[in-house]
Amino acid sequence: MKRTPLDAWIAAKTNHTDLAAYQSEKLRETVEWARTRSKFYRGRLPPITGLGDLKWLPFTTANDIRRDPFQLVCVSQDDIHRVVTLDTTGTTGSPKRLYFTREDQELTIDFFHVGMSTFTDPGDRVLILLPGQTPGSVGDLLATALERLGAIPFKYGAVDDPAAVADVIRRESINVVVGVPVHLLVLARTQPAFKLKSVLFATDHVPDPIRETVTRTWGCEAYDHYGMTEMGLGGGVECEARRGYHLREADLLFEIIDPQTELRLPDGEYGEIVFTTLTRRGMPLIRYRTGDYGRFIPGACPCGTSLKTLERVARRLKGQIPLGNGYITIGELDRMLFSVENVVNAVVVASAVTHDGLTIAVQVVGDIPAALEAIRAALTLPDGVKVEITPVDEIKLTMAKRVIADLGVIID
Ligand SMILES: [Zn+2]
Repeated sequence: MKRTPLDAWIAAKTNHTDLAAYQSEKLRETVEWARTRSKFYRGRLPPITGLGDLKWLPFTTANDIRRDPFQLVCVSQDDIHRVVTLDTTGTTGSPKRLYFTREDQELTIDFFHVGMSTFTDPGDRVLILLPGQTPGSVGDLLATALERLGAIPFKYGAVDDPAAVADVIRRESINVVVGVPVHLLVLARTQPAFKLKSVLFATDHVPDPIRETVTRTWGCEAYDHYGMTEMGLGGGVECEARRGYHLREADLLFEIIDPQTELRLPDGEYGEIVFTTLTRRGMPLIRYRTGDYGRFIPGACPCGTSLKTLERVARRLKGQIPLGNGYITIGELDRMLFSVENVVNAVVVASAVTHDGLTIAVQVVGDIPAALEAIRAALTLPDGVKVEITPVDEIKLTMAKRVIADLGVIID
């Protein structure tokens, strides 16, 4: 088994010194940079001596970014090279904006270059099924990274027409694909007739049946990665052991906290994933609460690295919806729904008022009555839940993360 390429990359970035000592110095520098240059962090952050002081620092939340994102910026407007505007669904109704300098984006490209080399070789032909037309967008940065690696990138965008994507794969002799899990499931179920070397799932949780369908259909290896725009897109990627992500530990400092007490948890315990940027200049984030639920896997990775392993992230902290006499997450529902061979896509809506109803719109291939019966048999739900399953011709593919939509929920 090949050791994660992140290992040598991080060793070089840290000049082969002790990682914790390097992180400690970078943390001190970042706090100093943020507290002297951003309106938001000025007055909030005391000067610190290093890692030992991290636990005293206040958290940064998504709402802090929504409220007035430019207050977090540490450079002049002229030095901002890319602005990313995210969702407008926050409680304040304003979108999150993230600001990056050219150097910040270079850090992302560098990570993509090294991370992709886990399963991509020079000469490989890589289809990017993510938005990539805008300079500095995720697909664009990934294409730049792949060129550095000596691979040949093809920017396509999100999957629109599976048959058209399959045509590109055959015509361009594509052997590596990067895309959204459910988009790749639609492609695998409807366009099974080609082979790939490897696949990278991006932007959302990966239900086991999707991973299994993709690897079996195209005879490829499948890798997960973890990231969000706030992290500078990339956060970590799996090694050949494929049991969770190794992280960009020279650029990002991760913690797991108890979301209630806000105290740090030891490796192995589940809690909220929190990170601090160590090398970003435009808009550094100190102890940013991701809202993702996860844990570090204790012990060494079989690949031989001394880097930590973050277990595959399966859900959001608030992703547990009360239903019947229990709870359900979109990850659990996806695992049941996509285990049915005929299911291509599904949209799940729960009744948030009475907590006893679940409506599922499904796109299936083949015999519809048989598929509906198989779905009913696959669903194990809390007692007292009424389920309505409706077959639909097509569910439009989007870049949005999969969620259980709430029906009648009161937004405060
Ligand atoms: Zn590993």
